[in-house]
Amino acid sequence: MRSAAVAIARRWAGPASLALAALLGSCASLAPRAPLKLTILHTNDHHGRFWTNADGEYGMAARKTLIDRIRAEVAASGGQTLLLDGGDVNTGVPESDLQDAEPDFKGMNLLGYDASAVGNHEFDKPPAVLAKQRTWVNYPLLAANIYKDGQRMFQPYAVFERGGYKIAVMGLTTDDTQKMVLPANIAGIEFRKPADEAAKLLPELRGQADMVIAATHMGHYPDGNRGVNAPGDVEMARQVRGLDLIVGGHSQNPVCMAAENQRNEAYVPGQACAPDRQNGTWIVQAHEWGKYCWTC
Ligand SMILES: [Zn+2]
Repeated sequence: MRSAAVAIARRWAGPASLALAALLGSCASLAPRAPLKLTILHTNDHHGRFWTNADGEYGMAARKTLIDRIRAEVAASGGQTLLLDGGDVNTGVPESDLQDAEPDFKGMNLLGYDASAVGNHEFDKPPAVLAKQRTWVNYPLLAANIYKDGQRMFQPYAVFERGGYKIAVMGLTTDDTQKMVLPANIAGIEFRKPADEAAKLLPELRGQADMVIAATHMGHYPDGNRGVNAPGDVEMARQVRGLDLIVGGHSQNPVCMAAENQRNEAYVPGQACAPDRQNGTWIVQAHEWGKYCWTC
């Protein structure tokens, strides 16, 4: 399969924030299929921002307006869409925290998320709250590297069909989670090295899908300079060759590159954004909270 990411220099009107990756793929070795034009919409680190803030910025209603507009535009041009999230729905504002993020998880259903990574903040509350939240969502919460009593605690991946192509999405969660939350909340739970789990899953997913994506909550650390943090998306892409795209979260950055291995820290919403690319894998992340608009 060949795939190429296309930077779209376009500013979306509206207060919500999304990053957009367009991947065009064709598969010469299989029976002829029409080329797939796939638009991947992604968010991460929502952190309870289901309402607009005092300045009228972001909020899930605005996000839905934007997503629906993009979906309609893509459909009108013969394309397909996938909506992914990089995790950390929980924790940020009292209106959400006091309701165990019920508006947020149910809002994500209404926005039509296809899948989400599990973030470390999904373990901020006692296990009974996470269990309740899992019953609220109608899309898969994915984590291949979280084990409870020796078994995977979440669905490790999901396979989506778009335009006759299969797209596998695996979920991965930072192993730093074990030192970021109350021990009582993760009793019996093990966070294995995400890259090791990705390497194990990749051949299986390559065998059944045309494209393999990782929805991660691991952080983007330019050139792998991660300080005290567990390895993030850059390190995983370098270790595990064969992922087409990583949709990330956790470090809460606009992953727009100024040069190789150098993130543009002066990035301003509305500018064109060049995603990171490591070892053949595209890496994207949409900052946080759905708070501004950008497209990749
Ligand atoms: Zn996080």
